[in-house]
Amino acid sequence: MIKLSSVERCRSPMGSSFVRLIGHFKAGNGTEDFDIWFDVDEELAGGLSESGAPWLIAAIPYGFELGGTIAIERPTDAMLLENTAAFAHIFRHWYRDLKPFEVIADKKIVDPGGEKAFAFFSGGIDSLHTATRYTSLGGTDQVGSVDELLLIWGFDIELDSPSEFAALQKQSEDFAVRLGVPLRVMATNIRRPGTFWTNRWGPLCHALGKAACALALEKRYKKAIWAAGYRSDRSVVEGSHPMTDHYLSSSGLAMVYDGADSGRIDKIAFLSRFPWMLEDIHVCWRGASSRNCGQCPKCLRTEIALELTGMMARCNSLPRVSLERIRKAYCGEPAERAFFTEMAEYAKKIGRSDMYMALCESLTRSRHRAPIVNYLSRFEKTPGLWRAGRSIRRMLGA
Ligand SMILES: [Zn+2]
Repeated sequence: MIKLSSVERCRSPMGSSFVRLIGHFKAGNGTEDFDIWFDVDEELAGGLSESGAPWLIAAIPYGFELGGTIAIERPTDAMLLENTAAFAHIFRHWYRDLKPFEVIADKKIVDPGGEKAFAFFSGGIDSLHTATRYTSLGGTDQVGSVDELLLIWGFDIELDSPSEFAALQKQSEDFAVRLGVPLRVMATNIRRPGTFWTNRWGPLCHALGKAACALALEKRYKKAIWAAGYRSDRSVVEGSHPMTDHYLSSSGLAMVYDGADSGRIDKIAFLSRFPWMLEDIHVCWRGASSRNCGQCPKCLRTEIALELTGMMARCNSLPRVSLERIRKAYCGEPAERAFFTEMAEYAKKIGRSDMYMALCESLTRSRHRAPIVNYLSRFEKTPGLWRAGRSIRRMLGA
């Protein structure tokens, strides 16, 4: 049983101008009681939720992990309750280890009256593509409009890295000024270590995290827009997916999965109209910092896409990728295979046979290595053997 025992609002210890919305949860099954909180600037505090919506979303990963009952004794939107039940059905179909759970809540049609639209912002390719197309800067590609952008502290940059977050906030504010919309900031501890919120963030909890933050401000917002990570026909099973994200909408707040008809190459080609955007793009969370590591899969796929679109020279925040590095790259995970396949097709189309050959070699080598890499991943979970497993896997470049 996960039970929301009470909710309070207070000054945040993170800063005197921040207001904190806290949900106190009681947990059974020997699990410790815990708090989830959302901090916003005082100016946004009037938009903080009074319903059970953000707490229901915050509790769902615990339901998947522990099973049993989620009890939210607050008015909770009927549409959101029905939608999240469908969301849970799909994820349990995808991941057979997730446990069933029952939700007990004070079911009501709740429309908190939010009037603004916002887009989540992170400084990466996907969020820049979405944010730009929701402002007049998008020109003929504009698909809507947002009143503001929202940057979250506690998702990719940890709460104990204030200087890293300040650097990302500064970069994001510079983007927002040029897009002509204000940047808002929220901090949250929802990604609690040792839970599915951290252990299965990408595969399971990514969209839930965004929805919880949006619903925490449901009296301010009626529409939350976030960027698709993949073109719809290349989607892989992940926490954010075109089939499931809209099931996190409530009667008063619609979740919009944007840009699913565009691949990585399409997005960079669009952003190349605004070269200043590509100068300082931030795509990497490996070091949980405001800088790109230049080595991880996210950095590599962006470097390849920039090279193919002829925009590499415009980017100051990523190194130029070599053909040798592409050939040796491991892309055995479904998400990486989808990106590499898309980029190989594009390289062939534009006559970059050198890049096409290197990408194909990586895809072929990765397909051959995938069975042993998957085996070693299991090996790594065995006490006493994990170090050897990881060493061999790294030798294989995975
Ligand atoms: Zn990186």
